[in-house]
Amino acid sequence: MELYKENQLKVYNSLTKKKEVFKTITDGYVGMYVCGPTVYSNAHLGNVRTFMFFDVVYRYLLHLGYKVRYVRNITDAGHLENDADEGEDRIANKARLEQIEPMEVVQRYTVDFHDVLKNYNFLPPSIEPTATGHIVEQIEMIKEIMEKGFAYEVNGSVYFDVLAYNKKENYGILSGRKVEDLIHNTRSLDGQSDKKNPQDFALWKKADDRHIMRWPSPWSDGFPGWHLECSVMSKKYLGESFDIHGGGMDLKFPHHECEIAQSKTCSGVTPVNYWMHTNMLLLNSQKMAKSTGNFILPNEILSGENSILPKPFSASVVRFFNMQANYRSILDFSGDALEASEKGHAKLMEALRFLETVAPGKSSTFDVQKWRKDCYAAMNDDFNTPILIAHLFEAVKVINLIKEQQASLTNDDLSALKKTMNGFVFDVLGLMNEDSQNNSEKITGVIELLIKLRKEARENKDWALSDQIRDELIALGIQLKDGREGTTFSIH
Ligand SMILES: [Zn+2]
Repeated sequence: MELYKENQLKVYNSLTKKKEVFKTITDGYVGMYVCGPTVYSNAHLGNVRTFMFFDVVYRYLLHLGYKVRYVRNITDAGHLENDADEGEDRIANKARLEQIEPMEVVQRYTVDFHDVLKNYNFLPPSIEPTATGHIVEQIEMIKEIMEKGFAYEVNGSVYFDVLAYNKKENYGILSGRKVEDLIHNTRSLDGQSDKKNPQDFALWKKADDRHIMRWPSPWSDGFPGWHLECSVMSKKYLGESFDIHGGGMDLKFPHHECEIAQSKTCSGVTPVNYWMHTNMLLLNSQKMAKSTGNFILPNEILSGENSILPKPFSASVVRFFNMQANYRSILDFSGDALEASEKGHAKLMEALRFLETVAPGKSSTFDVQKWRKDCYAAMNDDFNTPILIAHLFEAVKVINLIKEQQASLTNDDLSALKKTMNGFVFDVLGLMNEDSQNNSEKITGVIELLIKLRKEARENKDWALSDQIRDELIALGIQLKDGREGTTFSIH
């Protein structure tokens, strides 16, 4: 029997603000859509947190035996610099600044995004569609919305009529915003815009002369509004109604609210049964921002090439750290917190290595079946990874007692413990093989030893030796940096 039949999963639904029993539309199948990145810059650590959580959701659903179609899009056109449908397309803007083609920007940062996800051991989604690959479908959906009377054309651009929609449906159903407040709070139109009302949003924008990314349409040569692609691609690959839609909480409004309005206008049915949103990520208790220098790229954490963290950390440690927090809580990223996670991670991996060598005993001193149920109960309770990890550490404690010959497990219990531990640690949480992890810790230890020897050489004024250590490390791609706090290193 598939595990999902004996596990009642509950999901916190952002739409109803309640934990609800998870019932799929089709028995045994899950359709899941997660809003992907706009590929105009390097993958952002805050986004990586979101995608990492949904990677664990995907992994757990697969672990439970569901067949999952996981769709995560790539936005490669139509995302303007601000949410009020003003400003330049983000990708076109970057292309102009770097004097390259927009599609070169898209290619560069799509490759970077995939590189980060591979380093952090993500499973690829089932389908990764792009906005530019679905222009025809987007034009069709605009026509449909116009035919239903919820969109209007002005000077070659088409806008969604929020007031007309709100007369029939509830615009604000997800974000809790009221249209009356939106009208009151939205900056008045400066005469530049063609919108009838400021809360309306673009479905199609006419391109001005310098706009390179443009497609022909019945209204003008232009490009689709950002919110449209997700309605189009989720419908195309998952149907008019599907099970889970995820994203960062910053996407709730206006992006997801607009998705609901577009989809519901066309189909007449509720497009998504469970909306899930991840909370934000802070770096050293502050918002991450390139402008203030409080900023780090996901790959810089692995290489140590940054001025934020004291040393490099492995991808598995970063995953472990991420999963120690509930996805609905703010995650505060810092060197101290990562070092604490690194210690916990090493303990866990060491216990797993020892577990492979344990011989069964005549009796069990630990209730493995109850513990196994507790592990599933944690994940069934809205993917509560920190509680799961606490249970995994109960097992670590037992494994360490076995090591000291103060506990034992029967053959059946031992294999159940192994299967459950390996299943959760590697398949569900996606942590990585202990050996490579172990090696990276050893390498860190060796480099720190060389840094110490070089310091001693310098104190003895043995410049030849200290230079030799530095130069030979450089030849190996390891850069030492001398600072006031001592010497740090990065691996290239
Ligand atoms: Zn989206």
